[in-house]
Amino acid sequence: MFKNRFRVGKILGIPIHIDATWVLIFVWVTWSLSASYFPERYPYWSPTLTWSLGVASSLLFFASVLLHELGHALIARAQGVHVQDITLFIFGGMAEITDEPKKPAKEFTMALAGPLVSLALSGLFAALHLLTRHVNEPIAALSLFLGSVNLSLGIFNLIPGFPLDGGRVLRAILWQARHDLTWATRWASRVGQAVAYVFILLGIVHAFAGNWVNGLWLTLIGLFLDNAARSSYYQLTLRQLLRGHLVRDIMRRECALLPPQLTLDVLVDQYILRGTQRCFAVGHQGKVEGLLTIHNIREVPKAEWPFIRVADVLIPLEKLRFVEPDTPLWEALQQMTSEGVNQLPVISNGQLVGMISREDLITFIRNRAELGV
Ligand SMILES: [Zn+2]
Repeated sequence: MFKNRFRVGKILGIPIHIDATWVLIFVWVTWSLSASYFPERYPYWSPTLTWSLGVASSLLFFASVLLHELGHALIARAQGVHVQDITLFIFGGMAEITDEPKKPAKEFTMALAGPLVSLALSGLFAALHLLTRHVNEPIAALSLFLGSVNLSLGIFNLIPGFPLDGGRVLRAILWQARHDLTWATRWASRVGQAVAYVFILLGIVHAFAGNWVNGLWLTLIGLFLDNAARSSYYQLTLRQLLRGHLVRDIMRRECALLPPQLTLDVLVDQYILRGTQRCFAVGHQGKVEGLLTIHNIREVPKAEWPFIRVADVLIPLEKLRFVEPDTPLWEALQQMTSEGVNQLPVISNGQLVGMISREDLITFIRNRAELGV
């Protein structure tokens, strides 16, 4: 879901990313703090003090969001659930946990960990505020802001609409009660959508009352939550349709290897334009050397096609992402999505045994959904 993000580092082995949209929210929060929040409360501060405190508070606020996500991530990892990364974006943070939880109790603690971190931070900053309020006004002001913002963060995330943390807690409780994850997800998502509509409605009310910024912001959060609630339920349905099926069930086996010395003009004329060959693996005697995509061919000017061999432009095997015949279909789909590719070679012991494409997966899902199996 994040197309323009960059990696800023790693904390306890978990890669941390920042999405381009985060820059907007960072600038906005810093600006609001420095140009209105602090000046309104402490008009006698110098601009230097106001702005440095604005930047510091804003950075600490996002550090708090990161700690909230780390709370989820570390509890997930302690329970043996793989955490891919954490991304900060316009609506906060997101810990990418690729596995679905295996037990209601695990999901319950995983979901609760984030808000508990926020509430604990809120307590710490409140204590710091009380300790410094007669001693150091800037520190007291900063800790007051961070204490209240962490309190809001903790409470907001406990709203029981999926996929907010509170919604995950609700799902875990429903799941425990009926031992049916799909049913639990459906209801938690419905509550999530209802929460989203409340946000949108509040946003409209605020906008009509003349409070444009808050109105727009609430509406955007509502739209985001609605979309997230829908797509989480869709993901789960998809996952269940794919459950128990392996790459070998739907991979295409009719995949001849292209000889490495083939030139691009011959490849295009005799293989691609005739339309029978759909995958372009290169190698000989069953040993794969690499894979060719239409994109690799397009990068070479047409006039040079007769002089360039497929071996010169292929993506070598060691750089290639591939799946094995026993890879679950769900994992293959996720791999294609995270790599942004439409097909993956299926390789077993260094031998190309087939190809799997997004198209084949979609046909498989559609057929199963339509037949209701
Ligand atoms: Zn959370």
